[in-house]
Amino acid sequence: MESNALIWFRKGLRIHDNPALNHARRGSKHLFPVFVLDPRYLDPDPSAFSPGSARSALNRIRFLLDCLSDLDATLRTLGSRLLLLRGDPVRVLCAILKDWKIGKLCYEFDTEPYSFAQDKQVKDFASLSGIEVFSPVSHTLFNPAVVIEKNGGRPPLTYQSFVKLAGEPPAPLTETYSELPPVGNVEGYELLSVPSIEELGYGDLSQEEFSPFRGGETEALKRLKEALEDKEWVATFEKPKSDPSAFLKPATTVLSPYLKFGCLSSRYFYQCLHNVYTTVGKHTSPPVSLVGQLLWREFFYTVAFGTPHFDQMIGNKICKQIPWRDDEELFVAWREGRTGYPWIDAIMIQLKKWGWMHHLARHSVACFLTRGDLFIHWEKGRDVFKRLLIDSDWAINNGNWLWLSCSSFFYQYNRIYSPISFGKKYDPDGNYIRHFLPVLKDMPKEYIYEPWTAPLSVQKKANCIIGKDYPKRGLYDQLLASCPVFHSLCYTL
Ligand code: FAD
Repeated sequence: MESNALIWFRKGLRIHDNPALNHARRGSKHLFPVFVLDPRYLDPDPSAFSPGSARSALNRIRFLLDCLSDLDATLRTLGSRLLLLRGDPVRVLCAILKDWKIGKLCYEFDTEPYSFAQDKQVKDFASLSGIEVFSPVSHTLFNPAVVIEKNGGRPPLTYQSFVKLAGEPPAPLTETYSELPPVGNVEGYELLSVPSIEELGYGDLSQEEFSPFRGGETEALKRLKEALEDKEWVATFEKPKSDPSAFLKPATTVLSPYLKFGCLSSRYFYQCLHNVYTTVGKHTSPPVSLVGQLLWREFFYTVAFGTPHFDQMIGNKICKQIPWRDDEELFVAWREGRTGYPWIDAIMIQLKKWGWMHHLARHSVACFLTRGDLFIHWEKGRDVFKRLLIDSDWAINNGNWLWLSCSSFFYQYNRIYSPISFGKKYDPDGNYIRHFLPVLKDMPKEYIYEPWTAPLSVQKKANCIIGKDYPKRGLYDQLLASCPVFHSLCYTL
């Protein structure tokens, strides 16, 4: 019997390879494509350390709005539209399920604890009301629960064991649509247009510098296509050899924000990579290849799903219990890009301005904050990334912070990134630093990574007096003197 179906978009902001959408449209008289704007996610929070809401900095909010506009535009070409509502998602959903006489509710399965709890409430309500619920796994290549079951109920704790267990992922859906069922009667509800960030109450943002990466499925597919055009690059990709200082043309795909919001299907991405491999023949392999990168994502999703309290040290069975220091001054200097180490500060400014940095740049600053130099708790760094990254992802962010701080997965705590020589290997002229820290733009290249060693005459000529125009590392090192880690002699990278 034909009924009204509702697809509830949260992540999965795409039309391609979207099993929830595909199931919702099948045999339905009306299809209600819904996204609920949650004030907890979007309303300005003036007390936060950077402009944005309580949960997210502006760059990610703007990226989400881009995704919604793009999704709405595509739905309209298919004779539908995005129904934007505002409020507490659980309350809104329960109300419209009833009022719009929905017979079938479809939404992508989400493994994050916050969504998991929220979804359970909606699912319970729908089931009690006799509404069919379809909630497929399509944000990841594999169903984390299935991998954990294959491993005897425990998540595999090494990448290699994960890859062995996981096998081949399912192929993406191939359906394309020329039209979708029309939207039914939405009487009694105020439908919103996708707001601009200014309309969300963020005031005049004309002076704000935003991320160059714009959201949406259209942009994701364009970016993917461009990356895959260079088959040789795809076939020879080795993550550890890519350049963290490349910013005009980043050395990796920058598809993470699109995967995060599900503008790009990981299964489609995986299939496209395999198609390239088939064409070229010889190619690199996991863990360093591009397919290997997608499998890192899966690995962290699986461990995160099967580990209680994955996002904290206390109560987390796979996390080493480390007596981290508490030093607000050092922490804030790191967060704000004021450590006096240009390589570290430039990365933190890129994070603030762009909401994205290369993986090895993330390594550098995460190592510096935790076991490398400051010995500050990884959860504090995690929170800064969580807020500022446009690709901020619960499982991946926590997993990598656990890794980088040697709290889990990786324990070679003597492999420490130098805040000086690591960046210099890639970018001896310091172009990356000059771009993100314009105050150092005229510093001669021999001092750009260690400006405190420049004679005063050089500093004057470069219009940058260390300790006045740019922080002095010396002052910072006095604070570091109390650090329990014997750091400065043990940089190995
Ligand atoms: P590519 O190299 O092009 O890789 C393709 C895709 O593979 C990425 O888009 C991403 O989805 C996945 N991937 C790549 N590396 C990793 C990895 N190490 N772990 C898991 N998945 C990976 N990535 C996030 O997506 N969200 C986060 O919140 C996040 N936090 C991080 C925090 C720290 C401390 C560190 C060290 C890394 C973090 N990463 C995070 C992982 C990684 O840095 C980014 O995924 C990557 O830099 C994104 O750029 P890209 O899309 O060009 O990657």
